[in-house]
Amino acid sequence: MEKVTLITGGSRGIGRATALQLAAEGHWVCLSYLSRREQAERVVEEIQLQGGKALALQVDIANESSVQALFAELDSRLPPISGLVNNAGILLPQSAIEQMDAARVNHILTINVTGTLLCAREAVKRMARRHGGNGGAIVNVSSAAARLGASHEYIDYAASKGAVDTLTVRLSREVASQGIRVKGVRPGFIDTDMHAAGGAPGRIARVQATVPLRRGGEPREVAEAIAWLLSERASYVTGSFIDLAGGI
Ligand code: NAP
Repeated sequence: MEKVTLITGGSRGIGRATALQLAAEGHWVCLSYLSRREQAERVVEEIQLQGGKALALQVDIANESSVQALFAELDSRLPPISGLVNNAGILLPQSAIEQMDAARVNHILTINVTGTLLCAREAVKRMARRHGGNGGAIVNVSSAAARLGASHEYIDYAASKGAVDTLTVRLSREVASQGIRVKGVRPGFIDTDMHAAGGAPGRIARVQATVPLRRGGEPREVAEAIAWLLSERASYVTGSFIDLAGGI
């Protein structure tokens, strides 16, 4: 049966690396983007040049009807979905709690938590045996911040990733009998655009001495773990995480 996998946030960073990795392993890849269509189309071209199958679609995971429209389009254009990588997520500029307002916190939670849950819901509706599906696997991209906090910087982001961890474990129990495995990865400091979005473009250089392996990680190092978790090689893994954080 063909492996068909949706990767949210596939235009850049960890999502892009995951799309390339999964396509190289024979998945039909749908990579979504929020606004950077050209970057997403370049990833599609890169995959197609290597003989893989890929498609880029726009979605705002914070918007329920946008998520529903994305899955409806997938239904009409691709074979049934067998994998979801819930990767899209955001970080906002570093801030102490005194400067955090409800709008900021709700914005992060809506994308990182509600968006992740909505995409998982649509995937379950298609994968679950009780809905006529063939099962599948969901990998949620959490963060080492869920364990370590990011105090004085991004406690709202850390809280959102703590919620993703709880969602991952509890959803895994809810859908295990439906043939769906749900697991997560918790990257540490990975070299992507996200740090600039968080107001600290040089963050990895600044913190790498605190990492036992003495460096930040590359997106492809996270992608390798995601690809393994999605595969049949990880057929007995559900409700647990791989930490990819150089020892922190
Ligand atoms: P990134 O380079 O900033 O890329 C973010 C991706 O998410 C982009 O493809 C972006 O689309 C998409 N996106 C943003 N908001 C969206 C929305 N509302 N709806 C749909 N798509 C949206 O991020 P990254 O560093 O690769 O991070 C990917 C995941 O890993 C995130 O969940 C992040 O929290 C997690 N993570 C990252 C690190 C790290 O050190 N980088 C560490 C731990 C965890 P556009 O390109 O169109 O804007």
